[in-house]
Amino acid sequence: MQTHFASKRGASGPYFGQMASMPHPQGPQSPSETPIRPFPGGRPQGIRAPHSARVLQITWSSPEGPVVHQLSHSIVRGYCPCAGCQGHGSKVHFVAGGDQELRDIQPVGNYALSLTWGDHHSTGIYTFEYLWKLGELERTLGTEALKELDELPR
Ligand SMILES: [Zn+2]
Repeated sequence: MQTHFASKRGASGPYFGQMASMPHPQGPQSPSETPIRPFPGGRPQGIRAPHSARVLQITWSSPEGPVVHQLSHSIVRGYCPCAGCQGHGSKVHFVAGGDQELRDIQPVGNYALSLTWGDHHSTGIYTFEYLWKLGELERTLGTEALKELDELPR
């Protein structure tokens, strides 16, 4: 699995919340054998989107300790959950071609984030559980394989 974005931390401050000292990343792993962990509930402890890295870094608190997800902007944009991107079918799938510059992140209540992209697309409401699932899938499958999924697992 490519981890070319893994070292680009600390380029800018958090959007909200606070980052404690960085927990150790998951370390070497065999992606295909790593199970997807269930959503631990709650909200992210920290969210960072360094401008230099096309990655959204989310720190979660889980029973086993902190979990850090590195979500590629291309994944987050391509899996925008809004009806405009996903249509009205029940399948959630990757939609290529959207602008991948993350402009803004705003909390929605205490359950989701609203993301605004460089082309002003901002109708996607990403629940924390959904972001967790994307993070786990990108961690286990890798970025390219996640884009090629027929349908996002439930
Ligand atoms: Zn959308």
